[in-house]
Amino acid sequence: MNRRRQIYEGKAKILYEGPEPGTIVQYFKDDATAGNGAKKGTIIGKGVMNNRISEYLMMKIANIGIPTHFLRRLNMREQLVKAVEIIPLEIVVRNVAAGSIVKRLGLQEGTRLPRPLVEYYLKNDELNDPLVLEDYITAFNWATVNEMDEIVSYALRINDFLTGLFLGIGIQLIDFKLEFGRFWKDEDIQIILADEISPDNCRFWDIESGEKLDKDRFRRDLGKVEEAYQEIARRLKILPEANIEVLKNKEGVESI
Ligand code: UDP
Repeated sequence: MNRRRQIYEGKAKILYEGPEPGTIVQYFKDDATAGNGAKKGTIIGKGVMNNRISEYLMMKIANIGIPTHFLRRLNMREQLVKAVEIIPLEIVVRNVAAGSIVKRLGLQEGTRLPRPLVEYYLKNDELNDPLVLEDYITAFNWATVNEMDEIVSYALRINDFLTGLFLGIGIQLIDFKLEFGRFWKDEDIQIILADEISPDNCRFWDIESGEKLDKDRFRRDLGKVEEAYQEIARRLKILPEANIEVLKNKEGVESI
């Protein structure tokens, strides 16, 4: 684990210096937090599932022409990604009311929104990731107007694409969070999709039963948390051929 220089440790991932310049290794942990760290726990095998799920979704998204940071999966818990300068915003796309918008606007959970809504939150744990306006973003130079146009256009395309992909496996995509970064390509700065896409940062509801198949099972103590992550991987047909002992191995970095 200490064979590389650690760059950053977040709530669900550790970033290490990659083997080539301009690359980073993302290590997916089983640690889970909710309410900005107020609730902490472990979801056994989550890191293995999220590594696979995010690999699969990032590759699909790249196939529709949206650039992503994903390069290749290295092993059960690690993937190689392009080093980017992260834009300090969480971009949330919502199709159905759930989570914070329910509280903010007094909506009924499960109400379909009139159209997909895009929200921006400032990535700042001390301030609890506040909701921000595009005017703040451009005034404080967190991103330019052009960058925001590109980010919103990518986010809505990703929403349409993922909505269809998940409908095909009996799942309703309620909402999700994206992060983007700046990548220097020759003389140009490109906006590329970064971070991860997994049940940690999406809401997935089974179409038939309405059952929640995402981190809300942990946030709201609904039980069968591990099973929800495995169910998403199973429906995407990417459940790794690993037994639970391997999933329990927190180091879990052996090549497969
Ligand atoms: N989300 C996330 N990280 C955060 C906050 C939210 O990945 O720090 C995701 C969350 O999983 C959900 C969507 O963004 O899919 C919208 O979350 P919401 O604003 O409803 O906040 P929450 O209810 O999670 O506090």
